[in-house]
Amino acid sequence: MFHIIKEKTGATDADWSDWHWQLANSIRDLAGLAGILGNDFRKENIEKVAARFPIQITPFYLSLAASSFSDDPVIMQCTPQTAELDDCVGIPDPFHEQEASPVPRLVHRYYDRALFMACGCCAVHCRHCMRKRVWDECLPAPMDDELTPCVSYLENHPEVREVLISGGDPLTLEDDDIERIISAFASVKSVEMIRIGSRTLVALPQRYTDRLCEILGNAGKAVWIAAHFNHPQELSSEAGEAVLRLMAHGVPVVNQTVLLKGINDDADTLSALFTGLLKLRIKPYYLFHGDPVNGTTCFRTGIAKGVEIMGELRSRISGMALPAFAIDLPEGGGKVRLEPNSYVGESTNGRPIYLKHDGSSVEYW
Ligand code: SF4
Repeated sequence: MFHIIKEKTGATDADWSDWHWQLANSIRDLAGLAGILGNDFRKENIEKVAARFPIQITPFYLSLAASSFSDDPVIMQCTPQTAELDDCVGIPDPFHEQEASPVPRLVHRYYDRALFMACGCCAVHCRHCMRKRVWDECLPAPMDDELTPCVSYLENHPEVREVLISGGDPLTLEDDDIERIISAFASVKSVEMIRIGSRTLVALPQRYTDRLCEILGNAGKAVWIAAHFNHPQELSSEAGEAVLRLMAHGVPVVNQTVLLKGINDDADTLSALFTGLLKLRIKPYYLFHGDPVNGTTCFRTGIAKGVEIMGELRSRISGMALPAFAIDLPEGGGKVRLEPNSYVGESTNGRPIYLKHDGSSVEYW
């Protein structure tokens, strides 16, 4: 779809590689989508879905689609689905983030980590997003007088060693804002590491300019990027080049994937994704089961499906490529890692028996 989309948007090569151009020319309505992909997206009750959960897609992200069909894995992740409104299972904030917020924008749920909401904007609105409840709030970049109470809180809570900067997508902010936020948290003596959760390596890799990579690399504290690749089609050469620039500045990248029904819920797709991530020098970190968030239930597979796929992957790809499969418990219960069970039982002489990767079993001593 690259050539079609580049031509329809009228982008020059310089435009296409400019992250500001990508954001400014994002597709934000059904007319824009229809103009590029055809009229499929005006069907049924899609207008209502788009009104409730707005569209945001960079031309670059849409160009990763292999076709304009509605079952393309890229199209499915970014275009409105009628099932988003037929959701009587999910709730808007199952993790009670707002209740765990001691000062505005900061969430302190886990003992040694805190989460900071940097902004409400994203390069792409992922239809499975766990924070789609706040898409229409458009939280702007924080002012200094919003950062100060967060810094004071962290100074009074030296148990917090890691700050996760999230949003929205923090890397849709301007360089100066990112530098201000990172410097503020890096100034807290007890903060050892800053993790930035971002989908920009997938949807806006042009964002990783030399200047941004310098800011991230010169923070004075370890800065990590937690990317969010869900499908092998998202592994672009532009993302690979951005990772090299990050690495040159000492910024490592890990990846968190969400298991998505009909998009990546099979061993072939995830095997290609996880091994492809390693080739781009990104370590697969987590594979999450979809959260019970309102408007996303249609993407959930069931936990058993994830465990089954992990069992299959274990026999097919190296441990380096395997992320941990996990669920995030509602009501702030935290993450639980789930493993396929390898323990079969005990032999007659009391030794444990385990399943091998090929399905046969072996006695351990
Ligand atoms: S980029 Fe992240 S925060 Fe934004 S919509 Fe996608 S998953 Fe949600």
